[in-house]
Order: sequence, then C-alpha cells, then structure tokens
Amino acid sequence: MSPDVFSLTMPTSKAIATGYKALHQATQLLVAGLPEKAAEAAKKKALCNIPSRLGFQQPPRNASTVSKQLIVLLASPISTMSFAETMEKMEEKSEFNKGFLKRSSPPEVIETCYKKLSANAKAEDPISLIDIFHLALIGVAIDGLQKIPRCSFCPRFAAFETPFCREHSQSKLAPGTVAEKSARYRSGKIIVKQYDYYFRREPGFVDISKRNVSAYIARLLWLKPLPDEKRTMRAIKEQIAPSPRLIDRGCQNFCV
Ligand SMILES: [Zn+2]
Repeated sequence: MSPDVFSLTMPTSKAIATGYKALHQATQLLVAGLPEKAAEAAKKKALCNIPSRLGFQQPPRNASTVSKQLIVLLASPISTMSFAETMEKMEEKSEFNKGFLKRSSPPEVIETCYKKLSANAKAEDPISLIDIFHLALIGVAIDGLQKIPRCSFCPRFAAFETPFCREHSQSKLAPGTVAEKSARYRSGKIIVKQYDYYFRREPGFVDISKRNVSAYIARLLWLKPLPDEKRTMRAIKEQIAPSPRLIDRGCQNFCV
C-alpha cells in the first residue's frame, strides 16, 4: 500500500480546508428538512461553533470563507508546510503522535478528532491551534477515506500501512495479545475462504467519492441515515440470514 494513503504531504492549509468543507457539507445534509431556526441551531452545534467563534453571526453558506480565516489563524509558515511537518511540530502540544495515525483507520481519526473539537466547542472559547490541528487531521483522514482499501479479509477499512483492519491485523499497534490477534487472523482467513463470494477478491477501494463523502461523514458523526440505508440493511440481513456461521464469525458488526 502506498505510504501516502493519508496524504501527509498535502499542505496543512489544504488539510484544514478539506476538513472544514466536508463538515460544512455534512451539516447541510444533517439539517435538511428542519425548520429554519432549528436548522441554524443544529448547524452551529454540528460545526462546533467554529463560525461564531471566528466572529460570524450565522454559519456562512460558503465553507471557504471560514477555511480561509482558519488558515490565516494558523501562523505561517505552518499553513504551507506539509501535514507531516506540522504533525511533528504539533506532537508535543497534542495528545496525538504519529502512532495515532498509524494505528487508526480514517473513520477512527475523524471520529476521535471531531470529539476533541466538540469538547472545545463553547461559543465563547476562542479557536486554538490545537482545534485547527484537529480539523486538519480530519481533512487528512477525509482525503484518506477516498483512497484507503478495505481489509483483505473483511469489508472493514484497512488500517494505515497494512492490508488488514485492526480486527485482523497482527501489527504491534493492533489491540489484544499475540494469541488474540492470531485467533482473529485465523478466523478472518476462514471467513474469506468460505465467503469470498461476498467480498472483493483484492482489497478494493471503498466507494466513497467526493460526491458522497459528506453523506458518509453525516452518518459517521451524527448517525444521519444514508439514503437507502434501511433497504440496504434489510437486503444484507436477508442475504446472511441462512448463514448463522457467518454471523458467528464476527460479521454481525456490519449488520446491526
Ligand atoms: Zn478485517
């Protein structure tokens, strides 16, 4: 797998813009159908009050307005540095280090960083460098979402620099003891042997594109159902219902 799956070479300013744009677009989907007042309030909360903390009365319609201001706040030359360089600089200030990206899949990075952003989302709190850094990490992970393959054994995302997900990886960074990791690996091998009909033969690239990434983010962060989600879930359940062993082998996570 290419080492730049997470595009750590992208300029930090681009990572920030990518992160904010995706959040902004996802909030539009989140509030769709709500009455205007409720929509504004929900949008502010979902955007971690970033626009109001930058001095905007209402969340601007245009994501680039906010992104530009955030980039200005992130002192030059950091904004023009590659993200890898910024990461090194920020390591001491942040709870994250390089290991965080290496042991996490893009959705895990997005979820974790969004939680951190939300925790600092009080309207009166000024935006900190760490907030902007978390947003940049989200941007890097969103870029990664569109490039990272699935696990060789199952439909989960592969973890950074391995062909396997955390469940099936034997890497030091994967959770559990050596014996537990081996057991999960063996189980995964059996699953893929018996049921590869259902999976792609090679680790395939996930069908997340620029077009549907915001729907995915809205699902990941706020459990906003994807279009057709109910129908898809029903179809998956019907398909695996005759195979209780498939469910026993650890596939239930995908189907509940
Ligand atoms: Zn897997």
